[in-house]
Amino acid sequence: MNEHTIRDVVILGGGTAGWMAAAALSRFLDNGVTRITLVESEEIGTVGVGEATIPPLITFNQMLGIDENDFLRATAGTFKLGIEFVDWGALGERYLHPFGAHGRDLQGIHFHQLWLRAARRAREAGGTMPDIADWAVSGVAARAGRFARPAPDSPTPLRDLRYAFHFDAARYAAFLRRYAEAAGATRVEGRVVSVRRDAATGQVAALRLADGREIAGELFVDCSGFRGLLIEETLATGYEDWRHWLPCDRAVAVPCALPGDPEPFTRATARPFGWQWRIPLQHRLGNGYVYASRYLGDDAAEAALLGSLEGELQAAPRRLSFVAGRRTLAWNANVVSLGLASGFVEPLESTSIHLVQAGIAKLIALFPDRRFDPEERDEYNRHMRDLYEDVRDFIILHYKATRRDDTPFWDAVRTMDVPETLRRRMALFAGKGRVFRDAAELFTTASWVAVGLGQGLVPADYEPAVDALDEAKVAAALRQMHAAGAAAVATLPTHADYLRRVGSMA
Ligand code: FAD
Repeated sequence: MNEHTIRDVVILGGGTAGWMAAAALSRFLDNGVTRITLVESEEIGTVGVGEATIPPLITFNQMLGIDENDFLRATAGTFKLGIEFVDWGALGERYLHPFGAHGRDLQGIHFHQLWLRAARRAREAGGTMPDIADWAVSGVAARAGRFARPAPDSPTPLRDLRYAFHFDAARYAAFLRRYAEAAGATRVEGRVVSVRRDAATGQVAALRLADGREIAGELFVDCSGFRGLLIEETLATGYEDWRHWLPCDRAVAVPCALPGDPEPFTRATARPFGWQWRIPLQHRLGNGYVYASRYLGDDAAEAALLGSLEGELQAAPRRLSFVAGRRTLAWNANVVSLGLASGFVEPLESTSIHLVQAGIAKLIALFPDRRFDPEERDEYNRHMRDLYEDVRDFIILHYKATRRDDTPFWDAVRTMDVPETLRRRMALFAGKGRVFRDAAELFTTASWVAVGLGQGLVPADYEPAVDALDEAKVAAALRQMHAAGAAAVATLPTHADYLRRVGSMA
């Protein structure tokens, strides 16, 4: 067994993925033995359009000991309570996917099952039931434009408020660069032109820069973006292409002026050949059209995006191409890929930065400090594969569960075959609203319910166990939860006032 200690970790790439990795690895592995070096090329630049996130990023910042208000100030960040989907189930419809739970479970029965029975009774009586998102305190606050950080011991439903952030990804990378350099990481500016491999093992031995320097290492973290300079161009790992399920392969992104105060939610509006994001930061609105090049040309997509902007243009539009899918092995030989180098699923549920975070956390947990252990590498790969597939299935649900057939794009995704894992899930939900998930999955029962119902996938029935609970008592409990959520949210400041109050916005 090769019993050497890993001393040199080399990260290739200084986008969000590279600097997140450098910050976390220097925080947790700076033990006097391991050196962290990051190589990046200003000439090549970064993608840097990621602007919306999900709640686990709070933990990443906490792990690094970052003050959340400093982070918001540095990145022009805002709070995010969920995503509003417009025109997804059918034209003219909208729904909210809020963070956190809907209401409270009663006697072990999921809240949404109780809601399904009540909704059915309302329908039978010729009425309707309020939207399930009205029972999620994050949903109520999002719609009201209100926010304050929840106190965990609050006696009100505010304890269930869950949030994430919108921020300028380029500023986040710069913020983490300062953190990582202060924690001991070394940055090397230079363009990698070739890679030296160990003749005996085939492992990556060093990066060769355009000016002739060589950066040697034992473990390499490939954060070089879509090209995957080490994981793919050097090691030819392979890529699983998911375009038959996720046909969008282009995006055009552009920031514009913000018309008023920032809302605490992302909006994703379905378009004829894809969808458009709207992400409010403190100083601007991020916009982008994600589309399928099979149906729409780049110029037409850009014109559609520019024609829909709510404020003055703040930069030239950026065009991006991608292939939905994942690297067959996230960790191959002595290269661990993160970020766009490791795979890409369109940002409909803002998951890319989370996938970076999850990859870093798993790498720290399985860090090969003395030798490469195939069991550790395989565990890493299994975990990352499952995570990417969870995200993939959840995103496909938004397309498959549409009733739209107004363009060839929507008709194709509505009628496509989906992965067996998702087919089973959708069948269980369509029957009795059942959601079965593994504990390690990223998306909660509430998320599956929010998107399933929001898309118009109305279960035919509810679980039989619900009938064991007295209907009148449950109805009273639902009314009480609904009123308590609304009353609690009414006590919150507006989102913009809160940002000003905590000193994160001028
Ligand atoms: P990049 O930003 O591409 O960085 C690559 C780095 O590698 C750069 O520093 C580059 O200089 C360096 N490099 C490459 N080749 C060389 C070389 N030869 N020599 C030296 N250096 C080199 N994520 C979210 O979480 N939320 C979102 O809302 C979101 N929206 C997105 C929208 C779109 C359209 C796209 C495409 C992505 C979005 N993402 C989003 C994803 C997010 O942008 C990325 O996950 C994140 O920015 C990480 O990118 P990266 O660091 O992997 O790659």
